[in-house]
Amino acid sequence: MGNQIFCPAVPDNEPILDYAPGSSERASIEGRLESMWNDVPEIPCIVGGKEVFTGIIREQRCPHDHSRVLARWHGATPEVVKSAVDAANEAWVDWSSAPQQVRSAVMERAAQLLRGPWRDELNASTMLGQSKTVYQAEIDAACELIDFFRFNNHFALDQIPREQPLKNPQGTWNHVDYRPLEGFVYAIAPFNFTSIAANLCCAPVLMGNTALWKPSKTSILSNWYAYKMLEAAGLPPGVINFVPGDPVEITAAVLSSPSFAGLHYTGSTEIFRQLWKQIGDQLENYRSYPRIVGETGGKDFIFAHPSADVAPLVTAAVRGAFEYQGQKCSAASRMYIPESIWPQVKDQLVEATRSLPMGDVRDFRNFVSAVIDEGAYKRLQQAIEGAKEDPQCHIIAGGECDDSQGWYISPTVIECEDPRSYSMETELFGPILSVFVYDDAEMDRCLDLVDNTSPYALTGAVFCSDRVATDAISERLRYSAGNFYINDKPTGAVVGQQPFGGARASGTDDKAGSALNLLRWVAPRTVKENFMPPTAHEYPHMG
Ligand code: NAD
Repeated sequence: MGNQIFCPAVPDNEPILDYAPGSSERASIEGRLESMWNDVPEIPCIVGGKEVFTGIIREQRCPHDHSRVLARWHGATPEVVKSAVDAANEAWVDWSSAPQQVRSAVMERAAQLLRGPWRDELNASTMLGQSKTVYQAEIDAACELIDFFRFNNHFALDQIPREQPLKNPQGTWNHVDYRPLEGFVYAIAPFNFTSIAANLCCAPVLMGNTALWKPSKTSILSNWYAYKMLEAAGLPPGVINFVPGDPVEITAAVLSSPSFAGLHYTGSTEIFRQLWKQIGDQLENYRSYPRIVGETGGKDFIFAHPSADVAPLVTAAVRGAFEYQGQKCSAASRMYIPESIWPQVKDQLVEATRSLPMGDVRDFRNFVSAVIDEGAYKRLQQAIEGAKEDPQCHIIAGGECDDSQGWYISPTVIECEDPRSYSMETELFGPILSVFVYDDAEMDRCLDLVDNTSPYALTGAVFCSDRVATDAISERLRYSAGNFYINDKPTGAVVGQQPFGGARASGTDDKAGSALNLLRWVAPRTVKENFMPPTAHEYPHMG
């Protein structure tokens, strides 16, 4: 068991650089933002370590300046996907049998590269391509991804192999061999987190699997840099194959392979449900039952008890709802406030929301920027128009949309008289926070609303200064969120501290950034060795 030879110390979370004016990290990223802005790379598919230029060329544009092309990329054809599957199967032979510390060494080197020379590459491409402010890019593309690499290494090297059965009850040795799956894993990534996109491949790969990585069309640039960094870290050809392109066509080609062994997906609920059905329909074709892991949508809440402190509540609402333009799966999008504190909450929330600077992420004074693309812009614009027309909805801050230069939706607060109104119930995935003000005497009924207003159960937060009441609320909302926060915003889960994922329609709750997730990518083999095997087949009762 090579696994047990080398056990690194439990890692610390990567410190977040603050990019304050005059800091060296600020000068460095500004330089890289400028050079990246003036460069338009041509991004190929990568199959078996080789670049494939298919000639099916698409563009990735900058959301906050949509006339600017940031990259041109080549879409994979079904034939390219088939060769990627072959490459993954070929690479599996050596990779699946490499000792854990060899696979972990690649991830550790990737972490070290990202701490150093690749930090600017991933942060700048995430800022320009996905319109994240420098802080949002830093906590995602740099810190969270470094943490994924290093904590997953800790689980894979030190924690999982230690989980062993009883050793020698009667002259036997037993052990569990944590084998990878027999086949490849298909990783389908969302646009919103560079770290999640890379981890969707890297978690199964760390456990000895090979993978196909289908990035989102709106985050190809950062995902490609992440792939190149893994190559620089010593990832062998074919272990991860990078196949951007038409999701329906690519998926059909991937799922037709008998060696498809697992889906690692993050994205919307609707697509995940479709994928599950597609896999189910082809079950007889597969060598094994494919593992299906999906983290999907959310309609995340903040619930305030009458004892809540107003200033932290408002800060959590502003950060939780509007950071990264509300495009985090964990973003607060519905809030329940008791009548008794609403006047103070409303004043502070409206003032804070209206004061948020919005614009180009290269201007570091901005707090928010544009939403990801035209589709998102139109969806959000429609929701705002709908609220304007609904007599039971009152837009108390924001509500402006401007697509003249970028896809800008101003941070918006809607006060809803009906707790079941469209924006209270639907995942809008943008900078829109809907608020329902409840009668203090009706708190219990309001908690029912929190629990059953949406099919999702991803994140939620309660603000309460009464610890006994907090506990009762936490119990009452036990199944309403996979990540539950007390007196904190519902976003910003940290690897190793708050393993992330939700249940109900929000996903399979396999907790990215924990050993639980890695265990989905192994097919354990139990081995019993008998030192004194019996030499006669008769039993005493036969005598
Ligand atoms: P999306 O569903 O539009 O796309 C996700 C991925 O699925 C993309 O790579 C896309 O190309 C692919 N896809 C689209 N149609 C497909 C099809 N028919 N077959 C196969 N693949 C297909 O989601 P998005 O806009 O990139 O991300 C936003 C969604 O992701 C939100 O619903 C959000 O809540 C969710 N999300 C969840 C988590 C979580 O941890 N729970 C994290 C991030 C994002």
